[in-house]
Amino acid sequence: MRRYLMAAGTSLLLCLTLFIFALVERLPWRVAIEGSAAILALIALFYVVFRTGLNLRFADPSLTTEQLGAALVLLAFLMTQAGPARSSLMLFYPVAMLFGVLRLGSRRLMTLAFVALAAHGTMLALLMAREPQVDRGALLTEFAVLVVVLPWFAAMGGYVNRLRTRLSDSHRELKGAFDRIEQLAIRDALTGAYNRRFLMDCLAGERSRAERLGTVFSVCLADVDHFKAINDSLGHAAGDAVLKELPVCAAAGLRAIDVFGRFGGEEFLLILPGTTLEGARAAAERMRRSIEAARFAALAERPVTVTIGVAQHAKGEDVAALLARADRAMYAGKAGGRNRVVIG
Ligand code: GH3
Ligand code: MG
Ligand code: MG
Repeated sequence: MRRYLMAAGTSLLLCLTLFIFALVERLPWRVAIEGSAAILALIALFYVVFRTGLNLRFADPSLTTEQLGAALVLLAFLMTQAGPARSSLMLFYPVAMLFGVLRLGSRRLMTLAFVALAAHGTMLALLMAREPQVDRGALLTEFAVLVVVLPWFAAMGGYVNRLRTRLSDSHRELKGAFDRIEQLAIRDALTGAYNRRFLMDCLAGERSRAERLGTVFSVCLADVDHFKAINDSLGHAAGDAVLKELPVCAAAGLRAIDVFGRFGGEEFLLILPGTTLEGARAAAERMRRSIEAARFAALAERPVTVTIGVAQHAKGEDVAALLARADRAMYAGKAGGRNRVVIG
């Protein structure tokens, strides 16, 4: 649609040119009016095709080739009527072809160049037959120039189009690489959960929002109970397998704005924006229960439990102090028998 509007705008410029020619008496008014009417009819025809979605049935729904072909033929026809203005109008051939460069490869552009040459040649033949007194030498010289210029334009346009395609390919690849690198930077390599760096950035953001806007947020620090025993009895690989599976059940049921990640070792942190202590306690309790109920492939029937310290950010408190409170609550939970949620 955007390309259609550009083409329509350019066609209107051609109408303007026709009227300027008529104004300076290089073109009969009748030709300027009829030519403009034909151009407007063509614009309207393509508008209907685009609006009704008929263009979607074509291999290239932008209909660049069709619009261009029609424009080139119409242009050649206009020239049969244009009299002394004819040779100036030839400049519009490359202007029309320029649209093709945005979309078409060299083969299509070359075909269009030959369409233009055929249309122009037919127009000259008609002209010579109709007006025997016309200067044939001038017409043929004109044509010879077109024979050189239009295929050259198509070849150059094809080259520019290839450059453009390559540029957009490498732009896409670069974007893909950037996305992958971004993921690597914020994800923990073992578990795929957010890493400590991302969690700390997130906490800093939440804290500044809380200070500026007076919002609340809470954190839940979860530490796997007796994790060393899993490593010691079943091996480090089994411990790794548990760490990999744990985020799946731990993060189930969280809201899209909640952030869950690996804080380090066998400790995980849940950040709950806009959540008070009571809501955070409930979320932590849900998480504790779902981990306790989960069965880990590496552990057969042996359950895994976590102890969770919960803290709500207090006004003016920095991130380190908030985490220290959650940590103290978590350790109180360990001392109190583990597999529980403690509020800090
Ligand atoms: P507690 O209930 O008091 O938390 O007991 P615990 O055994 O979990 O406590 P401790 O902090 O002593 O042990 C944590 C263990 O987690 C020690 C460390 O080797 C292990 N660990 C940390 N990171 C990894 C890891 O990436 N993979 C594996 N397999 N083990 C890890
Ligand atoms: Mg620990
Ligand atoms: Mg532990």
